[in-house]
Amino acid sequence: MSLLVVGSVAFDSVKTPFGEAKEVLGGSATYFSTAASYFTQVKLVAVVGEDFPETHLEFLKKRGIEFEGLERRPGRTFRWKGEYGYQLNEAKTLDTQLNVFESFRPKLPETYRDASFVFLANIDPELQLDVLKQVKRPKLVACDTMNFWIGGKRDALIKTLGEVDILVINDGEARELAQEFNLVKVAKKILSFGPKILIIKRGEYGALMFNGQTVFAAPALPLENVFDPTGAGDSFAGGFMGYLSQNGTINEASLRQAVIYGSVMASFNVEAFSLDRMRTLNREEIDARYQEFKSLTSFESI
Ligand code: AMP
Repeated sequence: MSLLVVGSVAFDSVKTPFGEAKEVLGGSATYFSTAASYFTQVKLVAVVGEDFPETHLEFLKKRGIEFEGLERRPGRTFRWKGEYGYQLNEAKTLDTQLNVFESFRPKLPETYRDASFVFLANIDPELQLDVLKQVKRPKLVACDTMNFWIGGKRDALIKTLGEVDILVINDGEARELAQEFNLVKVAKKILSFGPKILIIKRGEYGALMFNGQTVFAAPALPLENVFDPTGAGDSFAGGFMGYLSQNGTINEASLRQAVIYGSVMASFNVEAFSLDRMRTLNREEIDARYQEFKSLTSFESI
Protein backbone atom coordinates (compact mmCIF):
# COMPACT_ATOMS: atom_id res chain seq x y z
CA MET A 1 0.00 0.00 0.00
CA SER A 2 1.25 3.51 -0.65
CA LEU A 3 2.13 6.12 1.91
CA LEU A 4 1.70 9.83 1.31
CA VAL A 5 3.70 12.39 3.29
CA VAL A 6 3.54 16.16 3.39
CA GLY A 7 6.15 18.08 5.34
CA SER A 8 9.28 20.17 5.09
CA VAL A 9 12.28 19.62 2.85
CA ALA A 10 15.03 21.77 4.25
CA PHE A 11 18.58 22.86 4.54
CA ASP A 12 19.58 22.30 8.17
CA SER A 13 22.49 23.80 10.07
CA VAL A 14 23.08 21.82 13.21
CA LYS A 15 25.55 21.96 16.09
CA THR A 16 25.90 19.17 18.65
CA PRO A 17 28.61 18.60 21.29
CA PHE A 18 30.22 16.19 18.79
CA GLY A 19 30.38 18.32 15.66
CA GLU A 20 28.65 20.64 13.28
CA ALA A 21 26.95 20.45 9.86
CA LYS A 22 26.01 23.43 7.72
CA GLU A 23 23.20 23.62 5.14
CA VAL A 24 22.83 19.85 4.89
CA LEU A 25 19.78 18.02 3.56
CA GLY A 26 17.05 17.85 6.21
CA GLY A 27 13.37 18.53 6.77
CA SER A 28 10.60 16.52 8.37
CA ALA A 29 9.35 15.01 5.09
CA THR A 30 12.87 14.13 3.94
CA TYR A 31 13.70 12.14 7.09
CA PHE A 32 10.25 10.57 7.11
CA SER A 33 10.25 9.45 3.49
CA THR A 34 13.79 8.13 3.59
CA ALA A 35 13.04 5.98 6.66
CA ALA A 36 9.69 4.82 5.24
CA SER A 37 11.23 3.98 1.86
CA TYR A 38 12.80 0.87 3.41
CA PHE A 39 9.27 -0.53 3.89
CA THR A 40 6.84 0.84 1.32
CA GLN A 41 6.16 3.09 -1.69
CA VAL A 42 6.36 6.73 -0.56
CA LYS A 43 4.74 9.72 -2.27
CA LEU A 44 6.26 13.03 -1.16
CA VAL A 45 4.53 16.43 -1.10
CA ALA A 46 6.65 19.47 -0.25
CA VAL A 47 8.21 22.58 -1.72
CA VAL A 48 11.80 23.62 -2.43
CA GLY A 49 13.36 26.75 -3.87
CA GLU A 50 15.57 27.37 -6.89
CA ASP A 51 18.64 26.68 -4.73
CA PHE A 52 17.76 22.97 -4.21
CA PRO A 53 20.41 20.86 -5.97
CA GLU A 54 19.87 17.93 -8.36
CA THR A 55 22.04 15.67 -6.17
CA HIS A 56 19.38 15.71 -3.43
CA LEU A 57 16.69 14.77 -5.95
CA GLU A 58 18.90 11.94 -7.16
CA PHE A 59 19.10 10.67 -3.59
CA LEU A 60 15.28 10.59 -3.29
CA LYS A 61 15.09 8.81 -6.64
CA LYS A 62 17.65 6.26 -5.52
CA ARG A 63 15.49 5.50 -2.48
CA GLY A 64 12.50 4.94 -4.81
CA ILE A 65 10.59 7.91 -3.35
CA GLU A 66 8.02 9.46 -5.72
CA PHE A 67 8.51 13.23 -5.83
CA GLU A 68 6.07 14.39 -8.48
CA GLY A 69 4.43 16.32 -5.62
CA LEU A 70 7.67 18.14 -4.73
CA GLU A 71 7.12 21.61 -6.10
CA ARG A 72 10.00 23.89 -7.09
CA ARG A 73 9.17 27.57 -6.61
CA PRO A 74 11.01 30.86 -7.09
CA GLY A 75 12.88 31.76 -3.91
CA ARG A 76 14.95 30.01 -1.28
CA THR A 77 14.38 26.58 0.27
CA PHE A 78 13.18 26.38 3.92
CA ARG A 79 16.05 26.68 6.41
CA TRP A 80 16.31 25.54 10.01
CA LYS A 81 19.20 26.12 12.39
CA GLY A 82 19.39 24.28 15.70
CA GLU A 83 21.73 23.39 18.51
CA TYR A 84 21.89 20.59 21.08
CA GLY A 85 23.71 20.51 24.41
CA TYR A 86 24.65 17.29 26.20
CA GLN A 87 20.91 16.96 26.84
CA LEU A 88 20.43 15.65 23.31
CA ASN A 89 16.68 15.12 23.69
CA GLU A 90 15.76 18.72 23.04
CA ALA A 91 16.87 20.93 20.12
CA LYS A 92 17.23 24.64 20.69
CA THR A 93 15.96 26.36 17.54
CA LEU A 94 18.28 29.25 16.64
CA ASP A 95 16.63 30.25 13.38
CA THR A 96 13.65 29.27 11.20
CA GLN A 97 13.36 30.72 7.69
CA LEU A 98 10.12 29.56 6.06
CA ASN A 99 11.07 31.04 2.65
CA VAL A 100 9.12 29.19 -0.10
CA PHE A 101 6.86 27.64 2.56
CA GLU A 102 5.32 31.01 3.27
CA SER A 103 3.22 31.02 0.09
CA PHE A 104 3.02 27.25 -0.45
CA ARG A 105 -0.38 25.61 -1.02
CA PRO A 106 0.03 21.86 -1.58
CA LYS A 107 -1.59 20.46 -4.70
CA LEU A 108 -1.68 16.68 -4.83
CA PRO A 109 -0.96 14.99 -8.17
CA GLU A 110 -3.94 12.82 -9.24
CA THR A 111 -1.95 9.62 -8.58
CA TYR A 112 -1.43 10.62 -4.93
CA ARG A 113 -5.09 11.08 -4.01
CA ASP A 114 -5.92 7.45 -3.32
CA ALA A 115 -3.01 6.81 -0.93
CA SER A 116 -4.12 4.48 1.87
CA PHE A 117 -1.74 5.82 4.50
CA VAL A 118 -1.13 9.52 5.09
CA PHE A 119 1.43 11.22 7.29
CA LEU A 120 1.21 14.93 7.96
CA ALA A 121 4.78 15.63 9.04
CA ASN A 122 5.79 18.72 10.98
CA ILE A 123 4.59 21.67 8.91
CA ASP A 124 2.06 24.52 9.21
CA PRO A 125 -1.17 22.83 10.45
CA GLU A 126 -3.16 24.74 7.83
CA LEU A 127 -1.14 23.01 5.11
CA GLN A 128 -1.71 19.68 6.86
CA LEU A 129 -5.47 20.28 6.62
CA ASP A 130 -5.16 21.34 2.98
CA VAL A 131 -3.67 17.96 2.14
CA LEU A 132 -6.36 16.04 4.02
CA LYS A 133 -9.02 17.76 1.94
CA GLN A 134 -7.41 16.37 -1.23
CA VAL A 135 -7.06 12.69 -0.32
CA LYS A 136 -9.94 10.34 -1.14
CA ARG A 137 -10.42 7.71 1.55
CA PRO A 138 -7.25 7.01 3.50
CA LYS A 139 -7.15 3.99 5.78
CA LEU A 140 -4.98 5.71 8.38
CA VAL A 141 -3.92 9.32 8.94
CA ALA A 142 -1.18 10.31 11.39
CA CYS A 143 0.48 13.63 12.12
CA ASP A 144 3.32 15.30 13.96
CA THR A 145 3.88 18.88 15.06
CA MET A 146 6.28 21.01 17.12
CA ASN A 147 6.38 23.93 19.57
CA PHE A 148 6.70 26.44 16.69
CA TRP A 149 3.12 25.57 15.64
CA ILE A 150 1.74 24.74 19.11
CA GLY A 151 2.57 28.28 20.17
CA GLY A 152 1.95 30.01 16.83
CA LYS A 153 -1.08 28.24 15.33
CA ARG A 154 -2.82 26.43 18.16
CA ASP A 155 -6.38 26.75 16.80
CA ALA A 156 -5.47 25.39 13.37
CA LEU A 157 -3.54 22.60 15.03
CA ILE A 158 -6.50 21.56 17.22
CA LYS A 159 -8.62 21.49 14.06
CA THR A 160 -6.09 19.20 12.34
CA LEU A 161 -6.06 16.92 15.40
CA GLY A 162 -9.82 16.50 15.03
CA GLU A 163 -9.18 14.91 11.61
CA VAL A 164 -6.38 12.44 12.36
CA ASP A 165 -6.21 8.89 13.80
CA ILE A 166 -2.75 9.14 15.36
CA LEU A 167 -0.59 11.93 16.77
CA VAL A 168 3.16 11.25 17.01
CA ILE A 169 4.84 13.93 19.11
CA ASN A 170 7.76 14.36 21.52
CA ASP A 171 7.27 14.59 25.29
CA GLY A 172 8.07 18.30 25.74
CA GLU A 173 5.72 19.27 22.93
CA ALA A 174 2.99 16.91 24.15
CA ARG A 175 3.15 18.60 27.57
CA GLU A 176 3.02 22.03 25.95
CA LEU A 177 0.05 21.04 23.78
CA ALA A 178 -1.90 19.54 26.70
CA GLN A 179 -0.76 22.16 29.21
CA GLU A 180 -0.13 19.33 31.66
CA PHE A 181 3.05 17.66 33.01
CA ASN A 182 1.96 14.12 33.91
CA LEU A 183 2.10 12.02 30.72
CA VAL A 184 -1.01 9.97 31.54
CA LYS A 185 -2.98 13.20 31.96
CA VAL A 186 -1.30 14.58 28.82
CA ALA A 187 -2.47 11.52 26.88
CA LYS A 188 -6.07 11.83 28.13
CA LYS A 189 -6.21 15.49 27.16
CA ILE A 190 -4.67 15.03 23.71
CA LEU A 191 -6.88 12.05 22.89
CA SER A 192 -9.86 14.26 23.76
CA PHE A 193 -8.82 16.55 20.86
CA GLY A 194 -9.61 13.75 18.37
CA PRO A 195 -6.84 11.19 17.71
CA LYS A 196 -7.53 7.59 18.74
CA ILE A 197 -3.87 6.86 19.33
CA LEU A 198 -1.10 9.00 20.80
CA ILE A 199 2.59 8.18 20.51
CA ILE A 200 4.91 10.16 22.75
CA LYS A 201 8.58 10.10 21.68
CA ARG A 202 10.93 10.42 24.63
CA GLY A 203 14.36 10.53 22.97
CA GLU A 204 16.86 8.29 24.75
CA TYR A 205 14.03 7.03 27.01
CA GLY A 206 12.09 5.45 24.15
CA ALA A 207 8.44 5.88 23.21
CA LEU A 208 4.99 5.39 24.74
CA MET A 209 1.89 4.47 22.75
CA PHE A 210 -1.54 5.22 24.24
CA ASN A 211 -4.28 3.33 22.37
CA GLY A 212 -7.63 3.59 24.14
CA GLN A 213 -7.11 1.85 27.49
CA THR A 214 -3.81 0.18 26.57
CA VAL A 215 -0.31 1.58 26.96
CA PHE A 216 2.77 0.17 25.22
CA ALA A 217 6.28 1.19 26.21
CA ALA A 218 9.26 0.77 23.87
CA PRO A 219 12.80 1.42 25.06
CA ALA A 220 15.45 3.22 23.06
CA LEU A 221 18.49 1.12 22.25
CA PRO A 222 21.50 2.08 24.41
CA LEU A 223 23.82 3.27 21.62
CA GLU A 224 27.53 3.86 21.86
CA ASN A 225 27.69 6.39 19.03
CA VAL A 226 25.18 9.23 18.96
CA PHE A 227 26.16 12.23 16.84
CA ASP A 228 23.06 14.12 15.80
CA PRO A 229 19.49 13.63 17.03
CA THR A 230 18.01 15.82 14.25
CA GLY A 231 15.35 13.91 12.39
CA ALA A 232 15.08 11.13 14.97
CA GLY A 233 11.38 11.92 15.45
CA ASP A 234 10.68 11.93 11.72
CA SER A 235 12.69 8.76 11.16
CA PHE A 236 10.67 7.16 13.96
CA ALA A 237 7.44 8.19 12.25
CA GLY A 238 8.80 6.95 8.89
CA GLY A 239 9.61 3.49 10.29
CA PHE A 240 6.27 3.39 12.13
CA MET A 241 4.04 4.39 9.20
CA GLY A 242 6.24 2.60 6.65
CA TYR A 243 5.84 -0.69 8.49
CA LEU A 244 2.06 -0.27 8.90
CA SER A 245 1.73 0.48 5.21
CA GLN A 246 3.81 -2.60 4.34
CA ASN A 247 1.83 -4.80 6.75
CA GLY A 248 -1.57 -3.42 5.70
CA THR A 249 -3.32 -4.53 8.92
CA ILE A 250 -3.92 -2.15 11.79
CA ASN A 251 -4.39 -3.78 15.17
CA GLU A 252 -2.69 -3.63 18.57
CA ALA A 253 -0.06 -6.22 17.52
CA SER A 254 0.93 -4.48 14.25
CA LEU A 255 0.91 -1.08 15.98
CA ARG A 256 3.35 -2.39 18.61
CA GLN A 257 5.61 -3.87 15.91
CA ALA A 258 5.45 -0.53 14.11
CA VAL A 259 6.55 1.33 17.25
CA ILE A 260 9.62 -0.93 17.39
CA TYR A 261 10.40 -0.40 13.67
CA GLY A 262 10.06 3.34 14.33
CA SER A 263 12.52 3.05 17.22
CA VAL A 264 14.89 1.06 14.98
CA MET A 265 14.91 3.77 12.29
CA ALA A 266 15.40 6.55 14.86
CA SER A 267 18.31 4.63 16.41
CA PHE A 268 20.10 4.41 13.06
CA ASN A 269 19.44 8.03 12.20
CA VAL A 270 21.16 9.47 15.29
CA GLU A 271 24.40 7.64 14.47
CA ALA A 272 25.41 10.27 11.87
CA PHE A 273 24.69 13.85 10.80
CA SER A 274 21.90 14.66 8.37
CA LEU A 275 20.55 11.53 6.60
CA ASP A 276 23.99 10.03 6.24
CA ARG A 277 23.38 6.80 8.16
CA MET A 278 20.25 6.08 6.12
CA ARG A 279 22.21 6.50 2.89
CA THR A 280 24.06 3.22 3.46
CA LEU A 281 21.50 1.26 5.46
CA ASN A 282 19.88 -1.97 4.23
CA ARG A 283 16.83 -4.00 5.24
CA GLU A 284 18.93 -6.83 6.77
CA GLU A 285 20.51 -4.35 9.24
CA ILE A 286 17.05 -3.00 10.06
CA ASP A 287 15.62 -6.44 10.81
CA ALA A 288 18.70 -7.41 12.85
CA ARG A 289 18.24 -4.33 15.01
CA TYR A 290 14.54 -5.15 15.44
CA GLN A 291 15.67 -8.44 17.03
CA GLU A 292 18.09 -6.49 19.29
CA PHE A 293 15.11 -4.51 20.56
CA LYS A 294 13.29 -7.76 21.20
CA SER A 295 16.09 -9.21 23.32
CA LEU A 296 16.57 -5.91 25.15
CA THR A 297 13.12 -6.20 26.70
CA SER A 298 12.65 -9.95 26.87
CA PHE A 299 12.40 -11.56 30.31
CA GLU A 300 11.01 -14.76 31.81
CA SER A 301 7.75 -14.83 33.71
CA ILE A 302 7.90 -16.32 37.21
P1 AMP B 1 12.96 16.12 14.39
O1 AMP B 1 12.64 14.79 13.79
O2 AMP B 1 11.92 16.55 15.35
O3 AMP B 1 14.36 16.19 14.90
O4 AMP B 1 12.82 17.19 13.18
C1 AMP B 1 13.93 17.80 12.58
C2 AMP B 1 13.57 18.43 11.26
O5 AMP B 1 12.45 19.32 11.39
C3 AMP B 1 14.70 19.25 10.71
O6 AMP B 1 15.30 18.57 9.63
C4 AMP B 1 14.08 20.59 10.31
O7 AMP B 1 14.40 20.97 8.99
C5 AMP B 1 12.59 20.39 10.47
N1 AMP B 1 11.92 21.58 11.04
C6 AMP B 1 12.36 22.38 12.03
N2 AMP B 1 11.48 23.37 12.29
C7 AMP B 1 10.43 23.20 11.43
C8 AMP B 1 9.17 23.88 11.21
N3 AMP B 1 8.83 24.97 11.92
N4 AMP B 1 8.35 23.40 10.24
C9 AMP B 1 8.69 22.31 9.54
N5 AMP B 1 9.83 21.62 9.70
C10 AMP B 1 10.71 22.04 10.64
